[in-house]
Amino acid sequence: MTVASRLRLVRSGVASIPLYANVYLLRTPQGRLLVDTGTINHAPAFARLLSAFDPDAVLVTHGHLDHAGNAFVAARLGYPVLAHPLEHDRLSGRDHNLPYPAGQPWMGAPMSRMQPKVPAWGLQAALPETDLLGWQVIHLPGHTGGQVGLLRDGVLLAADAVIGGLAGANLPREAYNSDHAVALQTLKQMTQLELSLVLPGHGTPLTPDQIRARAERDD
Ligand SMILES: [Zn+2]
Ligand SMILES: [Zn+2]
Repeated sequence: MTVASRLRLVRSGVASIPLYANVYLLRTPQGRLLVDTGTINHAPAFARLLSAFDPDAVLVTHGHLDHAGNAFVAARLGYPVLAHPLEHDRLSGRDHNLPYPAGQPWMGAPMSRMQPKVPAWGLQAALPETDLLGWQVIHLPGHTGGQVGLLRDGVLLAADAVIGGLAGANLPREAYNSDHAVALQTLKQMTQLELSLVLPGHGTPLTPDQIRARAERDD
């Protein structure tokens, strides 16, 4: 299947494609933004996507390998790679402390060491509450310390602050969250935003009602 045939138009100006994690292609009058990069086994598809879309910048929502796996491809091709400063050490390879895979935490560091990284000079800061090509950067801590999402016109790109499943919204398993209590708090805070649609880092789009239903539970 070609990359183009797997692209799904979510709504005007927003398309997505799963490269393990969801990769989002955003267009506003201010420019084109590509969000997250998928796992490294999708590197050829990601490279084709990148050259076809030719974004003004690439945002990595957090430093986990399923979102940051091809950030090095973007950096090597000269695209600005942005992330919250708390995620820079993971992206540049100064920090290999990963919770992956759940139940086998000793696998995280070797997996991270095998992964090509973004040179520190290729990273720029995506700071909460700033504007990024027409989207507002939102801090969504808990899954990782520096995870960010994007908000525009009631649409929230939520990264791994929430997962879209058949049964509705869910949190990543506790083993995958750096602080599960903070992740739950972030989900509760999400219900305070004026939202029409939530686009998660994994799975299908969610409604605000689905977010609310999960946020009411305390596990
Ligand atoms: Zn993650
Ligand atoms: Zn993920």
